[in-house]
Amino acid sequence: MSGSEASGAPGQTRSGPQGQTSPATPGAASPGTATAPTPGPVGVALRPTAKALPGQSRTHNKALVLRTLFHDSPLSRADLARRTKLTRVSISDLIAELIEAGLVEELGPRTESRIGKPAALLGLDAAKSAIVAIDLSNTETAHGAVLNLRGEPLAKRKVAIGGATGQQALTKVSNLAKQLISQAKSTPVIGLGVASPGIVTQTGTVEFATDFEWRHLPLAEHLAKCLGIPCHVGNDANLRALAEFTFGGASAAGLMVITIERGLGAGILLDGVLLQGRSFAAGEIGHLSAMVDGDRCVCGRYGCLETVLSKPALQALGTAAATANPQLDAVGQAAAVVLAPIASALNLTDLVFCDPSGLVTQALLDAIGQAIAARVLPTISADLTIRISTLGGKAALLGATALVLSEELGIT
Ligand SMILES: [Zn+2]
Repeated sequence: MSGSEASGAPGQTRSGPQGQTSPATPGAASPGTATAPTPGPVGVALRPTAKALPGQSRTHNKALVLRTLFHDSPLSRADLARRTKLTRVSISDLIAELIEAGLVEELGPRTESRIGKPAALLGLDAAKSAIVAIDLSNTETAHGAVLNLRGEPLAKRKVAIGGATGQQALTKVSNLAKQLISQAKSTPVIGLGVASPGIVTQTGTVEFATDFEWRHLPLAEHLAKCLGIPCHVGNDANLRALAEFTFGGASAAGLMVITIERGLGAGILLDGVLLQGRSFAAGEIGHLSAMVDGDRCVCGRYGCLETVLSKPALQALGTAAATANPQLDAVGQAAAVVLAPIASALNLTDLVFCDPSGLVTQALLDAIGQAIAARVLPTISADLTIRISTLGGKAALLGATALVLSEELGIT
């Protein structure tokens, strides 16, 4: 979440404009083949590495091949067969189909010297398809981009959205999406991803987003009808966590991504699953009590985590955040009151701060890390790395891109 709103979970249309009844994946399952659960970010394991079992679909294996190429290309067909445990015949068949679909490309022969005929290398053909992503986490300005399948921006556009609510805000988002789709020109757009503040359900319905005054708004469904392409909507904090996993090289074993903006939000990947919670509010930690006698919070209570870890709080710290000092130690202690139990309960391995304003300093991370270490068992703190995101202000847009990659192609 961002601002003072609650955190939710990525969601997605379950019924796209083509009448898909399950998350779309490259191509359709063969007639008579059972449809396997498609790897996606919600409630199922991310990035599975096993081939499909009997009864599971070709769709699963195509997603497996695409995921492998996304992370490890260039690879030969033999490399792919070894990594996926699929047969060479199956790999050749799947690759032919994926090349035909414009998702995989031949990269030429392997150049390093080996005995025999050099193998032909393959890679993800990132340029033949586009994804449109919109970040609504800054409620003053909606940022959008057209990106290739590697998350590299091809075009950007932003629109002032501050003050717009209800249908007016929805129209602004819809128009921005239309403009971006037109900027993709002749490149087919495989889907739209939207990072929204507020509580977002698994089906892309915004249960509430305070700044836009959205209540029970089926945003993904509305945009899919309006735009004629698959549309997926997720909570912005959760999508940042997804972005760290897909584009930032983070592990999904125990990752918490904390976004520092007007408020504080968090997205959590645990044991390869994005945690969403029964009410899609997992990661709502900004209003947990960090101090008994703290400052008044926007929620009306005192001493919430947001009162020490948020953009306004860090701006107020000013130069005191630059080097170790008692004031910074106090912030670290307050943060650890909330973060240490979470790190311990979930055995977190990565605590990543997403900080578009650049206010989080290494000295602050050190203070938080030391305070957490003093509160948890050594085995917990020894496993825990605390760092600043390398994705910067792009994380939400990349998260929306990752959501489309996951739901449309099975790439996570
Ligand atoms: Zn509060």
